[in-house]
Amino acid sequence: MVNENQARRLVVLGTGGTIAGRATQPNDNVGYVAGQVAVSDLVAMVPALATCALDIEQVAQINSKDMVLGVWQALVRRVASHLDRREVAGIVITHGTDTIEETAFLLQTLLKPSKPVVLTCAMRPATALVPDGPQNLSDAVAVALHPQACGVVVVCAGRIHGALDVSKVHPYRTDPFDSGDTGALGCVEEGQLRMFRPWPPGVSQGTHDDAGLQRLLGASSLPRVELVFSHAGVDGELVRALLEQSSSKAGPLRGIVVAGTGNGTVHEDLLVALKEAQVRGVDVVVASRCAQGRVVPHAGQPLPDSAGLSPVKARLALALQLLEA
Ligand code: ASP
Repeated sequence: MVNENQARRLVVLGTGGTIAGRATQPNDNVGYVAGQVAVSDLVAMVPALATCALDIEQVAQINSKDMVLGVWQALVRRVASHLDRREVAGIVITHGTDTIEETAFLLQTLLKPSKPVVLTCAMRPATALVPDGPQNLSDAVAVALHPQACGVVVVCAGRIHGALDVSKVHPYRTDPFDSGDTGALGCVEEGQLRMFRPWPPGVSQGTHDDAGLQRLLGASSLPRVELVFSHAGVDGELVRALLEQSSSKAGPLRGIVVAGTGNGTVHEDLLVALKEAQVRGVDVVVASRCAQGRVVPHAGQPLPDSAGLSPVKARLALALQLLEA
């Protein structure tokens, strides 16, 4: 019988992104088309992976800005199924950088895997003069094979980020992620891991949110949760328009996440409309639009806060919560 620590087979799942992008000129790092190169070809670009026992699957081939529920469902289904295989030590997912933090959050929330699920990516297409994808993929494999690794992480530019903390903070540089106040979990240096913090607590129990998983897999759409910003000069008209309009695909508005200023403060005119939304049964949550830190809860705050989640993660968390209702 193979136990988890002895298992050494890895699964590599491809979903597209810049790491699989193709440009017409090798010196073009921005005018490329994402999601073109097969994940098997990406693996073949890393000679060191030739000696690893790998199962390779193309789950999707998209630009991650276009992420949709159907792709998430296909990915979650494949990840959950491979995690259940005793001989599988871990899973590597190639993904676009643009929504990688949302996919990582989704997988961590639903699966809390005791094995590592490592998302990786690139900022330069596969055809670039100096592509960053092969090194990131090689580092991701090193993380997925580490005997202590667990939970969902993002590996890019030699750093390992936890799924709950990571955000994309830069549109161009090859190290575009940040984990805010907590910092990265660790780094990968010449294939060796140097950890700054323990692997995320609790994940080693391997608890699966089976009910949540089944609800997501069975959903034809996620409950409609919109994201609005509080900013200078904002009024409540966008929120009122949302309340009046029912989307043919996702149905009526169920929730709003407001990216508030500073410590989750909201313009007084927008707040009036958000209170109207609450009266009409819409769940409203406030996150901070600041790139770092979290809303510090305090007595008398007018709206519930996102418990430290960024606006995009809070939106997904609320949609998953409303899926239960
Ligand atoms: N620009 C994106 C990336 O860096 C494309 C995507 O997210 O798929 O991967």
